[in-house]
Amino acid sequence: MRFWSLHPGHLDPRGLVRPAPGAVLALAALATLAGGPAASPTPAIATSPPDTVLRVTFLDVGQGDAVLLQAPEGQTALIDAGREDIVPLLRELGVEQIDLMVATHPHADHIGGMRGVIESIPVRFFMDNGEPHTTATYRGLIGALEARPEITYLEATPRTISLGSATLEVLPLLPRGTAEHNDRSITIVLRFGDFTGLLSGDSEVRQLTHLVGLGVVPELTLLKAPHHGSDNGFTWDFLRVARPRVVVISVGRNSYGHPRQAALDAYAATAGETWRTDRDGHLEVRGYEDGTFAVLRGDAVASARGAGRTWVGATAAAGVVGAATAASSGSGLRIRVHADAPGNDHQNPNGEYAVLENTASAPVAIAGWRLCDLANHCFRFPAGTVIAGGGRIVVHTGIGQPDGERYYMGRRQAVWNNGGDTATLYDEQGATVVVFSY
Ligand SMILES: [Zn+2]
Repeated sequence: MRFWSLHPGHLDPRGLVRPAPGAVLALAALATLAGGPAASPTPAIATSPPDTVLRVTFLDVGQGDAVLLQAPEGQTALIDAGREDIVPLLRELGVEQIDLMVATHPHADHIGGMRGVIESIPVRFFMDNGEPHTTATYRGLIGALEARPEITYLEATPRTISLGSATLEVLPLLPRGTAEHNDRSITIVLRFGDFTGLLSGDSEVRQLTHLVGLGVVPELTLLKAPHHGSDNGFTWDFLRVARPRVVVISVGRNSYGHPRQAALDAYAATAGETWRTDRDGHLEVRGYEDGTFAVLRGDAVASARGAGRTWVGATAAAGVVGAATAASSGSGLRIRVHADAPGNDHQNPNGEYAVLENTASAPVAIAGWRLCDLANHCFRFPAGTVIAGGGRIVVHTGIGQPDGERYYMGRRQAVWNNGGDTATLYDEQGATVVVFSY
């Protein structure tokens, strides 16, 4: 692997610093965020596996896009930045540096918040589609970049960028001058093990058709709905190839009718679940290397990011603070489901089980909380149920005697669908704590 150096390269026509052509870009592990289990503050954390998850957070920025990517090793990319100032939100999420900032296309609902970010948070690389725009917002962004010569400019030519152990593939664009801005949105395929995602700004039918024709659209775990769920932001051919398991629509109050019913129907017909920032707030999709994912919603996202810092934090103190934040809301919890029991599932309901892991170091009390499948078969945790810091409990489907580590739903038939299901953990008030789909 070649690590990119920050020596100034070529200048592009706008005066932005470019790297030499043909260079391989790898965003190296940040020295200050390189702490692993060896640097963990307590034995509980030291004996737990690192939280190897790619976090893809769709910030609720109203009508617009702002997607934060965080690699397991701590590297951060920001794909678009909404229309307004998102700096307070990024600070709340613990973002201290942005390794790569991408402007998918120069419309204000995607680049409006970038100037503030550039002026407040260190940014290492900036990528756009190379096509200027005439607006004051765009000129303000270029001005902010020119004032920061330490930021290296990248044009979105096809390339692969390493973000820690995740990769970002930049797909080919329609040639400059041949399409409107939306149809020249930078399109990125995310890969983290078997987890795949696609982010494509405001792509419309023409660009999606182009990408399908090139054969560069993979089967997806996660799709960011192109163009805020517009009916020109999907094609059936695209969805047949992409077959997303989860779709996230970044949308707010608008006069365009986004999201359109035709798009919602198409996503409902092809994806297992669809989430919307206008209804669900911030949405964090946690991608795991085995291709599974979990979705956190609303306020759980910010406190969950605290839990993530347990694993990438530079100091023991940071880890403990992060863990305490997570434990208070239970959002350091993670669910896995082992749906396929040995033999006939219905004759062996204890052969299938759900595992609740506490990735934080502080214990979480879950008495009165419910674990439910998609068909709303639920199990309520009895008084006194606690998941130790770094610990786990197992919930079997069948009948048995709970012992504080193993619980039993008391059912005589299988609950978890082998072909795919959703496990949701609700707290005592019925608020969603964590969702796991497979
Ligand atoms: Zn837009």
